[in-house]
Parts: sequence; C-alpha cells; structure tokens
Amino acid sequence: MTIGLQAAHHSIGILGGTFDPIHYGHLRPAEEVREALQLSELRFMPARIPPHRARPRLSPQVRAELVELAIADNPAAVVDTRELHREGPSYTVDTLVQIWAEQREKGAQTSICLILGYDTFLGLPGWSRWRQLFDLAHIVVAERPGVTGQMPAELAAVLAERHISDPALLHNQAFGGIYVQPVTPLPISATGIRRALANCKSVRYLLPERVRERIVAESLYGYRQL
Ligand code: ATP
Repeated sequence: MTIGLQAAHHSIGILGGTFDPIHYGHLRPAEEVREALQLSELRFMPARIPPHRARPRLSPQVRAELVELAIADNPAAVVDTRELHREGPSYTVDTLVQIWAEQREKGAQTSICLILGYDTFLGLPGWSRWRQLFDLAHIVVAERPGVTGQMPAELAAVLAERHISDPALLHNQAFGGIYVQPVTPLPISATGIRRALANCKSVRYLLPERVRERIVAESLYGYRQL
C-alpha cells in the first residue's frame, strides 16, 4: 500500500456527479466535508458522459450553469468543467492525473480528496482503473441515507487497509487514505426531484432557490411548474 507522505498545503475536495440537477444533498454534505477537513477549495465537477449511467436529462452546459448558480455565494467553491470539454467518457483517474499535472506546474503542495456519497463509493470497483485512484487522491465518503447496497468484498478489503479514523491525518498525506465523514442525512436525490417535477409537485427547499427558479422559468425538464 502506498500512502503519499508529502506535506500538503493546498487541499482540494472534489465532488463529481451528473448534477441533473444539483440539490442540497450535494451541497450540504460537501460543505460539511470542506469544513471538517479544512479544505481550501471545493470543486464541483459535472460529468459529461457518466460511464456508469443513463444519459442526463439536461445538457452539460445547463447542468454546469445550475451548479454555478448554486455555489455563487460560496467563496470556497468552484465549478470545474474540464470533463464537459473532454471527448469520450469522463474517467476520474484521467481527471485526477490532469489536476496533479496542473498543481505540479504551479509548484503547489497539494492533497486531493475525492468526495463520494456512500452509494457511489459502493460502486467504486466498477470504475475504470479504480485502484489507481488511491495513488492520486484520498477518498472521503459522505454518508447517504437510504443506501442499502452491500459492500463488494474487494472494496471492503481496501477499506480495511486504507481506513483513516482521524481526519487530521489526511493533511499529512497527499493521497491514499479512506475517511468516512458523518454528514447531516438528507434523503434528497436528483431522481426524486425529476420525479416531483414530472408530477407537477413542488421542489422548493430541496435545492437552492436560484436553481429552482431557473428550472421553473425555462421549464428545463419540460414540465410546467407550480
Ligand atoms: P440521481 O438521482 O440522478 O442518481 P443523485 O442525486 O444521486 O442523482 P449525482 O449527481 O449522481 O446525484 O451525485 C453526485 C455525488 O453526490 C455522488 O457521489 C452521490 O453519492 C452524492 N450524493 C447525491 N445525493 C446525495 C445525498 N443526498 N447525500 C449524500 N451524498 C449524495
């Protein structure tokens, strides 16, 4: 097992996703991870073609714009649209390699935390070159209510090997650990929001008001809204 030991000063948290649309179940857990781990930067990274799932309803451009709207008032948060500009599927290992190259160019001492909701973490062994992720980032798992799937044995083995219980330790290492962050449980999903929109139900307070207003004003999901 390799755990990167370089001292890290710039800590980047990355939350990837389809964000179709972005909602408080993304924003609040990410903010709690940022605060708990004292991350200097929180990056929301919309995926263009998620390799493991059905095509998103909204275009990459609009999903990114909704993320922009959602984080506009958070000085620590940025949207990183690189995966939207890359041809083909967005593999996280490729993205992380690119980010490391940029950080090296800047001469920054960096650690990267890849933030995954628990459901996404359970699917990690299905990701392209997933073991390589640990040479590039820490994995920070945000608890997610209502997730019942079983943990694959190979993932359980990696978790046992790499689990870090003290988040302060993540700062001494640039990559390679797995930390599980308890967060305020918010059983909100983009699927639930799309379903509510399809049924002309209110989605108020499930996502930032500015995002809701844009969805309603432009009937982004094709339904008239209350
Ligand atoms: P969908 O319902 O379309 O599958 P989603 O709500 O799960 O979408 P994604 O964009 O797929 O949203 O999720 C991006 C990341 O945020 C994933 O790592 C996912 O596990 C995490 N996440 C999403 N919703 C929550 C939530 N309510 N609590 C904790 N983590 C979440």
